[in-house]
Amino acid sequence: MIDTFYYFLFWVCILGLCFGSFFNVVILRSLSGESIVFPPSKCPKCGNKLLFWHNIPVLSYILLRGKCYFCKEKISIQYPLVELAAMLLFAFAFVKFGISITTLFAMFWVSCLIIMTGTDLKEQLVDCNIAIIMGISGIIFNIINAGAMGIAHSLTGILIGGLILELIARAGYLFTDSRAMGEADTYVAGALGAIFGQDIIVVLLLGLLTSMVFILPVFFYKQFKNNNKLTCILGVIFGLAFVIFQTLQNYYTLAIFAIIGLTLAFSILKNLNHIEERNYLPYVPALAIGALIFLFFII
Ligand SMILES: [Zn+2]
Repeated sequence: MIDTFYYFLFWVCILGLCFGSFFNVVILRSLSGESIVFPPSKCPKCGNKLLFWHNIPVLSYILLRGKCYFCKEKISIQYPLVELAAMLLFAFAFVKFGISITTLFAMFWVSCLIIMTGTDLKEQLVDCNIAIIMGISGIIFNIINAGAMGIAHSLTGILIGGLILELIARAGYLFTDSRAMGEADTYVAGALGAIFGQDIIVVLLLGLLTSMVFILPVFFYKQFKNNNKLTCILGVIFGLAFVIFQTLQNYYTLAIFAIIGLTLAFSILKNLNHIEERNYLPYVPALAIGALIFLFFII
């Protein structure tokens, strides 16, 4: 029995690697508008057609030492990373849900999330059609599992997810003259709502925490570079106050923690207008990570 499990797991990993390879093509060509199926793979620099052994997921990157076989142009680390991510997440889906229809759906959602994350990170562009297809698959999944109740479950999630993200995006107008986030984020949140129902609230919170982990260090680095030492110092004090509050857990430390937090928030908001380049928040990757954490480790 255990042998069968590892046998299946092995082929799921291979499948993940091959799909990852395909996702790379989709990420690259959906942005350039090229056909996904027909043109054979070639080096974007020298245009030479790749040989068969240049197309093996991950392995080719290692064999070629990350350079084009013909012109020695560096190959983007995106290729092996996407392939490994697909392999890992397909394996997670299989380990979590076994041989079931849920595994197939989970693999499909993983695929959509990888492609949207890839294009968002690469060009700050997300194809909303992928989000819509993912949402429809979520509705179908819930109908299979719960019939008519499943539709209600999905619709609730779409409403909550879409609405919350749209509100956050439009809150951007309070401080600047543009949305805080792109329209794609609303589509993705709605699609995840169609999958997770009202649990989308937990997914959004996980996404928010994920984005904080990535955004805050960059934010404070920029503040530091712009010689905005006060915000940096406040950030450090805020972190210390949080640790002290967590250790002592009384009202005095909570009050101090809250006051420092408010001062920090005020200092950040005051400086928001002074930041020259508008920071684009790639929120789709954060949402994707939040959704995957929820899918594989919470439900
Ligand atoms: Zn080349």
